Amino acid sequence: MKYEAVIGMEVHVELKTESKMFCTCANNPDETKPNKNVCPICMGQPGTLPVANKKAVEYVVKTGLALECKIAEFSKFDRKNYFYPDLPKGYQISQYDKPLCEDGTVMINDKKIGITRIHLEEDTGKLLHPKGADYSLVDLNRAGTPLMELVTEPEITSSTEAKEFCKQFQLIVRYIGVSDADMEKGHMRCEVNISLKPEGQKEFGTKVEIKNLNSFRAVERSIEYEIKRQSEVLDDGGKILQETRGWNADKQETYSQRKKEEAHDYRYFPEPDLPPLDLSKEAGVFDVEKIKESIPELPLMKKYRFINQYKLTEENAKIFSEDKELANYFEDIISELRTWVDAKGIDGDLIDKLTKLTANYILTELQRLLYVENHSVHCCKITAENFAEFITLIQEGKISSSGAQTMLGEMYKTGGDPSNILEEKGLAQMSDEGEIEKIVEEVIEANSKSVEDYKAGKENAIKFLIGQTMKQSKGKANPQMAEEILKKKLK
Ligand code: ADP
Ligand code: MG
Ligand code: ZN
Repeated sequence: MKYEAVIGMEVHVELKTESKMFCTCANNPDETKPNKNVCPICMGQPGTLPVANKKAVEYVVKTGLALECKIAEFSKFDRKNYFYPDLPKGYQISQYDKPLCEDGTVMINDKKIGITRIHLEEDTGKLLHPKGADYSLVDLNRAGTPLMELVTEPEITSSTEAKEFCKQFQLIVRYIGVSDADMEKGHMRCEVNISLKPEGQKEFGTKVEIKNLNSFRAVERSIEYEIKRQSEVLDDGGKILQETRGWNADKQETYSQRKKEEAHDYRYFPEPDLPPLDLSKEAGVFDVEKIKESIPELPLMKKYRFINQYKLTEENAKIFSEDKELANYFEDIISELRTWVDAKGIDGDLIDKLTKLTANYILTELQRLLYVENHSVHCCKITAENFAEFITLIQEGKISSSGAQTMLGEMYKTGGDPSNILEEKGLAQMSDEGEIEKIVEEVIEANSKSVEDYKAGKENAIKFLIGQTMKQSKGKANPQMAEEILKKKLK
């Protein structure tokens, strides 16, 4: 039988606030000394009282606005009760029936994925199990740090879509600055809910939840594994059990962790130690409009603007939209070039030509240099002004394309000025008509056979003559000019 996959995601993201969710301890995910950032509140001592972190609430609202969610006017915190050694209070403060954000969307390529909700909660501590020891250790640095949870509608249909969704969400939270969302560091953790149904059937099948996926690859591979596993069970006439499964990256397979019957009853109830959140305008505590204004242009909008404004291909626009800094760098260069074009009083499509040239150099040569050095564009020594000047040198034929490559490498290394490098490295291209003409005359003299061939209609012979001209000029002649002059002389 053919089956369709139905997938919903739950994604946790650690918020990049200065302090923890309900106390003033530092929120530092890079802290290496265990139990350094702790206090009676985040250690769950009796008699302590939490106070909600306003910034964390604002970050969730910001994310909600970026994903076109409805922002709650009234929201509250709830207790989710369960015992775990890294949860000292015996409950987690989370949000149950009144999340901060509901009903949003994330676009992946041209498909809309509905966002059910985004809520705010606190993270747990971490348990450490020293090798060979008969005890475990607990580190509460992470306990009580703000954690945002997003839940999607079951509208994802493949492993590729699920991976794309996670990437897009990661990109957005990074763009708006609420989290570094580094999966390797555990800033972002994904859970997959997946079921199968016979092709065309409306009703959903029984779902399985796969927990603790800490890479895009794990998301993708675990879904592929589950589709295969569940198909086999169904084909054999079996039933899918509602359960929670884990992902074994070594074996590349999922394994059962607990069945539905063993599921927790969290006994949610409103957190009595925290007042509800009033986000209405009248209350004057949160300025949702101002948060909205603080949202920068998002990746998708940037992509379409780059296609329209700079006439880039969709593929190139996408690369820029996925790297905000690279996109800013590109735009700074174009703005320099526009000034240059305006000053020269040239109109027409010169700026389009320069834009295309710039995009090509950034996305090939510069990206290659950055890649080799494992740099990101903010450590690039080439100023936007120098990059723009470099482009004008190419446009004006003052440097050949091979010279341009050498020059960019040099600029990258030293941060030097293109006109200085042009002189120092002798990269200038010969663009003086008289000089090239002299060489062309010598070449015609010395290669009468090719000249005759050309005159007899062998078009290709001119390639040889251009080659000879380039050779005589030690590669410095402007090849277009060499060709033009040759053709004129041979007429
Ligand atoms: P639960 O009550 O078990 O937590 P929810 O209704 O809250 O289930 O949904 C949790 C996640 O599972 C959501 O991302 C949702 O889109 C997804 N989901 C719900 N039903 C299914 C299903 N039948 N198959 C796949 N995913 C599902
Ligand atoms: Mg759930
Ligand atoms: Zn604390």
